[in-house]
Order: sequence, then C-alpha cells, then structure tokens
Amino acid sequence: MSRKFDAIILGAGAAGLFCAIEAGKRGRRVAILELSDRPGKKILISGGGRCNFTNIHCTPEKFISANEHFAKSALARYTPADFIALIEKHGIPYHEKTLGQLFCDRAATDITTMLEAECRDAGVQILVNTRTKEVQKTTEFIVETDSEEFRAPVLVVASGGLSIPKIGATSLGYDLASKFGLKIVKTRPALVPLALAKKDRRAYCDLSGVSAAVTVFTGHQSFRESMLITHKGLSGPAILQISSYWEKGKPLRIDLAPDRDVTSAIREAKTRNAAAARAAFLGVLPKRLADRWLDLHEPKSWTNQDLEKLESDLHNWTLVPADTEGYEKAEVTAGGVDTDELSSKTMESHKVPGLFFIGEVVDVTGHLGGFNFQWAWSSGAAAGRAL
Ligand SMILES: Cc1cc2nc3c(=O)[nH]c(=O)nc-3n(C[C@H](O)[C@H](O)[C@H](O)COP(=O)(O)OP(=O)(O)OC[C@H]3O[C@@H](n4cnc5c(N)ncnc54)[C@H](O)[C@@H]3O)c2cc1C
Repeated sequence: MSRKFDAIILGAGAAGLFCAIEAGKRGRRVAILELSDRPGKKILISGGGRCNFTNIHCTPEKFISANEHFAKSALARYTPADFIALIEKHGIPYHEKTLGQLFCDRAATDITTMLEAECRDAGVQILVNTRTKEVQKTTEFIVETDSEEFRAPVLVVASGGLSIPKIGATSLGYDLASKFGLKIVKTRPALVPLALAKKDRRAYCDLSGVSAAVTVFTGHQSFRESMLITHKGLSGPAILQISSYWEKGKPLRIDLAPDRDVTSAIREAKTRNAAAARAAFLGVLPKRLADRWLDLHEPKSWTNQDLEKLESDLHNWTLVPADTEGYEKAEVTAGGVDTDELSSKTMESHKVPGLFFIGEVVDVTGHLGGFNFQWAWSSGAAAGRAL
C-alpha cells in the first residue's frame, strides 16, 4: 500500500518547510518526509541558537554560484521584507545585530514554531523519523522509506547539504540528482574554519581564543571582519567568509592592521627599540598576538628600511592553510545541483518534469549573515508557488 499526495518534499529543513507552506496554501496535498525526530533541526542550532533568519542587505553579490544570475529571480520574488512581515505577523521579537543581520531576540524555536504552525494551517503533513531510501519515477514519483511507500506526481528535493552529518546531513539530494542525470558542481565545505599547516600551527595556535580585526584576501575576494585563532588554525567571521572562496593549496593574505600605520610610532619614538615596537603594536593588536608577532618578526636593526619591512609584513601575512576543518565544522556546503539544470523561476528540473531542487542542495551558497536562510525561504517559495 502506498500513500498518495499531490507533492512530496524530501527534508523538513528551512527550504522544505517553506515550500510546503506555499504549496499547502494553494490547496495542494503535501507531505514532508524527514529523517530526524523533529523538523528544522539546523534552524534550532543556527545563529548561536538565535537564528540569523535573514539579512536586510540581501543582494545577488552575497551569493556564490557557477551562475551568478541564477538566484536573482527567486530572491526578488520572495524578499527579506516578505519574511520579516511573516515574523511580525507571528509577533516574534527580533533585532539587527550588525551588517543587516536579523536575529530572534528569544530563541530559534520561535522560527520553527512559526513554520510548524504555518504548515498546520496549510494542511501540510510532516512525517518525522522517515528516511528516504530510494526514489523511482514511473508516471509519478515513488518514494521508498524505512517504513512506507509514498507516491506523488511532483517531488521536491530539500534534503540540504553535507555539513554537520551528526544532525542528519546526508548525500540524498546529490545522489538523486545523479540518478536522474542532472549535473553537479563539485561540493566543498564552506563557511568553515581553516586548519593551519604544522609550522604555522606551532607558531600561533597556542594563542587560541585571541581575535583581531583584519582584512583577509584570496584571489580577488576580501573580507574585513574579525578573525579568531583556534587550537587548529583560524576562524571567526573573516575566515569563515573567505573559506567559501579559498581553494586548497592557494595562499591567504591577511592584513593584521587594515588602514593603520603602526611603525610611524616607532620612527617617532625617542629610541627605536623593541620596547617602542611593542608599545606601537599594542595599540593595534591584542597583547598576546602583538608579542608573538614581534617575537617572530623582530627586525635585525631599526633602520627605515627594516621598519618598512616590519610594516609590510604586518599587512601581508601570507600563509597556505593545510585544509578546511571539513563538513563536520562547515556551516554550509558550496557547490551542488548545477543551476543550468533548473528553472530559476520555479527550481524545476529541465530534464525531469515534476522534479524540483531547493535550498542548500542547489549550487547557491550565501555569505555569512542570514543569506543562506534567505535562499532557503526564497527558493522554497519559488518552488512552492509552482507546484
Ligand atoms: C551551526 C550552523 C549555524 C548556521 N547558522 C545560520 C544562520 O544563522 N543564518 C543562516 O542564514 N544560515 C545559517 N546556517 C546555514 C543554514 O542552516 C542552511 O543553509 C539551511 O538550513 C539550509 O536549509 P535546507 O532546508 O536547504 O537544508 P537543511 O536545513 O539541512 O534541511 C535538510 C533536511 O533534510 C533532511 N534529510 C537529509 N537526508 C534525508 C533523507 N535521506 N531522508 C529524509 N530526510 C532527509 C535533514 O534531516 C534536514 O532536516 C547555519 C548552519 C549551521 C550548520
């Protein structure tokens, strides 16, 4: 015996829930199949438990994709203002933290409670503890789970990326895309801390916990935010952002004192010496990092030329990270279902009518700051309105 619906959605994460609400409101009989014991688990752990649910400065440049234009249509048709209106309708208190990032005042459960209530009102059935094992297509889609079989003319894959396997990430979406002959842009961990090579780890990682305001560069990309030293390498917003662009084997350049001229104070000091240098660096870097930097970069003498080099080294710390810290620590998975395969208006596959991909499984990856959830809401809405 199989259960029949108008549409089946695989995954009750941000994108799947949102798509179901939109489709349910249009009278479709929708079931969401979710492998874990509750919907929206990633929403609950997001934003340090407060869910950075959108960003008011949501422009297409905040998204990485092989096709930089793909996300524009969905983002324009369901905007941060639309999501804010929904939050306000439910009386959820929120605030802007910095750089347009909106967080719940109380907790991320406000968001999951809201989405579950909207699902109930729209008549959506959420089936938890229901792992999708196999999908077949005849005249309709047949989904085999651990317990039951489901059938529908429409299937939406909203099963997310590979990040954080311990809360339910699986390769289901990519496996299904391959099975149905859709191209995939190679996946990689993104918004992820970077592990330093042994030599650099030995030199800096005992400073774990120290942070500094930096600008970090790779290729043509740069981010000016804070950087945190960890026991394995580097993290903090600047590093998480650049990690989405960094390619293994390529160098990172870090300006440890953006827009500052540190050595002028040494030049002007009564005596140019290590004490004057330490005093000057302390005004710019946290004490432990200032001390360590000078221990490792102290000039042979205090000539103008040596001071120039000291200044330049500080603005051009160049290192080649050993690797990222992998999917276990990554906030998102970059790459995914090739956008050439999908309609930018509806997220439906060109090759397989009735098959949709939304959210993180698609090759659209937001910067840090609420953009990934906005993509989940916008792509979910685009598909939900087309079912
Ligand atoms: C620690 C952390 C913090 C984050 N904080 C933020 C933030 O503050 N703001 C922001 O914008 N983004 C944040 N993100 C990113 C954001 O959570 C994701 O981009 C977003 O959740 C993607 O939504 P999705 O619906 O595509 O996938 P997911 O939310 O991952 O949902 C996919 C669902 O599919 C289910 N599933 C997988 N395989 C199967 C299967 N075989 N059968 C049935 N179900 C299956 C999973 O259990 C999951 O519930 C954070 C991510 C992490 C890891």
